[in-house]
Amino acid sequence: MVITKIETFVLKDKLSKSFFFSQWEYSERCICIVKVTAKDGTYGWGEGYGPASVLEAGIKLLEPFVIGQNALENEVIWNKMYRKTLDFARRGILVASMSAIDIAIWDLKGKLLGLPVSTLLGGAHRDRIRPYATGLYFTDHKNPAKTFKEEAELYISQGFKAMKMKVGLGIKEDVNNVKFMREIIGPDIQLMVDSNHAYTLREATELARKIEKYDISWFEEPLSPEFYDQYSELRQKTTIPISGGECEYLRFGFKQLIESKSVDIIQPDICASGGLTEAKRIGALASANGVDIIPHTWGTAIGLHVALHFISNIESVPGRMYQPDFLMEYDQTENGLRDKLCFPSIEMKNGMIEVPKRPGLGIDINEKVLHKYASRVKEVDIEVLQKIYKVK
Ligand SMILES: [Mg+2]
Repeated sequence: MVITKIETFVLKDKLSKSFFFSQWEYSERCICIVKVTAKDGTYGWGEGYGPASVLEAGIKLLEPFVIGQNALENEVIWNKMYRKTLDFARRGILVASMSAIDIAIWDLKGKLLGLPVSTLLGGAHRDRIRPYATGLYFTDHKNPAKTFKEEAELYISQGFKAMKMKVGLGIKEDVNNVKFMREIIGPDIQLMVDSNHAYTLREATELARKIEKYDISWFEEPLSPEFYDQYSELRQKTTIPISGGECEYLRFGFKQLIESKSVDIIQPDICASGGLTEAKRIGALASANGVDIIPHTWGTAIGLHVALHFISNIESVPGRMYQPDFLMEYDQTENGLRDKLCFPSIEMKNGMIEVPKRPGLGIDINEKVLHKYASRVKEVDIEVLQKIYKVK
């Protein structure tokens, strides 16, 4: 079935209250989603992770290599997009644009075949996934952890058994906050920390050692993603598992991350690192090297459903009778684009989310809501971009 149309939407949601982490402050959510339509009118939705207006320009650039292709041949289309961008974008935003299109094609393919994405991936080893709450950002510069208690108690009441908090403000403050959090949630809730690459090796080592006693399930992005060797050194200096990979791209980037023994857990963002087609290959790499994989998510319910289907298909290595839960990142910060755009909405029951059995990703977009959030910030001159990148 031939692909005939690609449409992009840059969506913005102004937050009622801004929040911050070690790098910057968020006052709005801005996300680029894409709709890919086939000749018979069937369509699929995709999402990219990264600056939305640049992502949109990248999708426009890739459009000529996707229009006219067979929607069932996602690997062939993926390779065409990859070959056309390889010289300029072995990492970064153009890979995210490719990812958005690739995801929409998987959704479209599932709808054309009447099969859920998990089946297209090879089948669901598990039909319910345990989400962990991502939140516990900072809301007040004078008292950054002001809302931690209220937020953590809310997550527990909602049924979450694991949550991830932000660190990266400075070692002393981080240690106090982690201690405070462990006291609030007690010993039975899993706790993770994420510094968003805020620290040097010396600082990260000191922080890790000081919070080991609070039973931390993983320390995410302790260091800059460029410092593979330092990650590996840090792993030798702490008992806390080290995770990273949300800034990494394609199987080649993850090969480097894994071969340098930098992390215990890789966290590819499927909406940035190459889409579902490449996530399957990254998953095979993780499996072949005995490294855990827990995708990064941050966006709309499209991205969350991508993760749900993908995680349902991850093979347990090693296998055993009583398997631990495979975790899915579930951002809980304010985001109308996550909560209002797609239907049916995500439901958590007894701390688990069901993997939809409906065709494709199992969701659709409420186009009324879509147009409420859609913005045209600035039309990008695609012809100029195509000349710069020398593509026809
Ligand atoms: Mg993170």
